[in-house]
Amino acid sequence: MDNLLLCIVLALLVLGAWLAPRWRLRRALARPLAPAHLAIIERNVAQYRGMRPARRAELQRLVKHFLHHKTFVGCGGLVITDEMRVTIAAQACLLLLGRPTRVYPGLYSVLVYPGAFLVPRNEVDAAGVVTETRQDLLGESWGDGRVVLSWEHVRRAGNAAEGTHNVVLHEFAHQLDSESGSTNGAPFLGSAERYRSWSETLARDFAILRRDTAWGYRDVLDPYGATNPAEFFAVATETFFELPHALAVRHPALYAEFQAYFRVDPREWLDAPRAQEPETWGTLYGQWQ
Ligand SMILES: [Zn+2]
Repeated sequence: MDNLLLCIVLALLVLGAWLAPRWRLRRALARPLAPAHLAIIERNVAQYRGMRPARRAELQRLVKHFLHHKTFVGCGGLVITDEMRVTIAAQACLLLLGRPTRVYPGLYSVLVYPGAFLVPRNEVDAAGVVTETRQDLLGESWGDGRVVLSWEHVRRAGNAAEGTHNVVLHEFAHQLDSESGSTNGAPFLGSAERYRSWSETLARDFAILRRDTAWGYRDVLDPYGATNPAEFFAVATETFFELPHALAVRHPALYAEFQAYFRVDPREWLDAPRAQEPETWGTLYGQWQ
């Protein structure tokens, strides 16, 4: 009898331990975001300002999920504020809108520095000599569940009236990329047909960007995207969400692939920015397309 009672108590403890996190998440999702948090999103996420109410509600739900599960760590003496947590969560969750996906299941913590941070790098030359260097970074994405960001650059991107760089979108694109098992410019797409179409389109536009960069021509995509396919995906993701009109004109097939993957059209949220309209770099069309 005593053994039966012990088994029941243990079973209840296990069930409680299993249910408690789910119950806490449900409770967190049921509570509306505080007005102060909504004001932060409104202020620092330009795309949110152009969204319809249903899409805004979807983003808010994702933000609550993100804030509930992810830990923020201040580095270099930085004290984490609600402005930082909500801004980073909202920009990161733009990449999840419209898709039946979990909220960065492999990510546990977001480390935030006040500004650009120095990281040691080992460089090996042709003779095998290893040189230790230090590199200034604005953001970094790790496969072990960490993203590192410079708050100064997150804030700057969020407040820019029109911008091409967004370090949050960039690093979280790397997180999506790594969900497929390797960080190679192809996130999880679901079918062989999708992978084939994705790799054809991205390989062609990657080659165009490399050629533009080598010749010194300006593309709507930042030259850093010419580094390798993983950086191309991250840079193109930034551009898809920050300069969708220009990207759709300059790289229509790439834009269509990203629309199919992200299942949103950011052109609905943002006005076409003047500075990036085709006339700025329109001379390239005839040459490369
Ligand atoms: Zn990168």
